[in-house]
Amino acid sequence: MAYDVVVLGSGPGGYVAAIRASQLGFKTAIIEKESLGGICLNWGCIPTKALLKSAQVANDIKHAESYGIEATGTPKFDAIIKRSRGVADKMSKGVQFLMKKNKIDVIMGFGKLTAPGKIEVKDKDGKTQVVEGRHVIIATGGRSRELPTLKQDGKNHRLPRRYVAAAATQKHDRCRQWCYRC
Ligand SMILES: Cc1cc2nc3c(=O)[nH]c(=O)nc-3n(C[C@H](O)[C@H](O)[C@H](O)COP(=O)(O)OP(=O)(O)OC[C@H]3O[C@@H](n4cnc5c(N)ncnc54)[C@H](O)[C@@H]3O)c2cc1C
Repeated sequence: MAYDVVVLGSGPGGYVAAIRASQLGFKTAIIEKESLGGICLNWGCIPTKALLKSAQVANDIKHAESYGIEATGTPKFDAIIKRSRGVADKMSKGVQFLMKKNKIDVIMGFGKLTAPGKIEVKDKDGKTQVVEGRHVIIATGGRSRELPTLKQDGKNHRLPRRYVAAAATQKHDRCRQWCYRC
């Protein structure tokens, strides 16, 4: 199938670019290997803020007395996580709706750029198709990289102070665009 614009990756970088391309009159497709909305909507910004909201409610209940309210509550972690997953799923479905509304073809599968303008997409059943685009936007996101001097062991989360300072600066700059609480 041939398109004017093919976007690889449907996170906030990809799906917004796809919508704009379609609005500008380009025949557009978006390729996603996992869930529409990328890390932000499915695992990052949104579900973590839903968890934070539960923490805030628990904290408010803890201090309810100082507001003249008598209240008690015990956090139910299963329910908290279920709510967070529900919020994330809703947001991902929202992106699905936006793709449909903007007439963007959604192609689910792992995309690999094999030649200029050609992306080979393998779906979860192993079926392969080639998607062609006059323009290709790579929006596959970023992943953390292990520092040579700081091996990840999945247990130890303590970082030397200088690494923490660098991470905090980046996070703050990014959060200013999105969050209302940072
Ligand atoms: C726990 C956590 C909390 C966060 N909180 C915030 C926050 O509060 N505010 C904030 O601004 N940012 C936050 N972020 C960062 C934010 O999630 C990212 O900046 C954002 O998701 C980047 O968007 P993106 O479109 O570049 O990439 P991604 O969201 O990573 O999307 C890339 C997409 O491409 C897909 N993909 C990758 N390779 C392929 C391939 N070969 N074929 C097909 N599909 C592919 C992936 O499955 C993914 O869906 C948080 C991140 C995490 C992990």
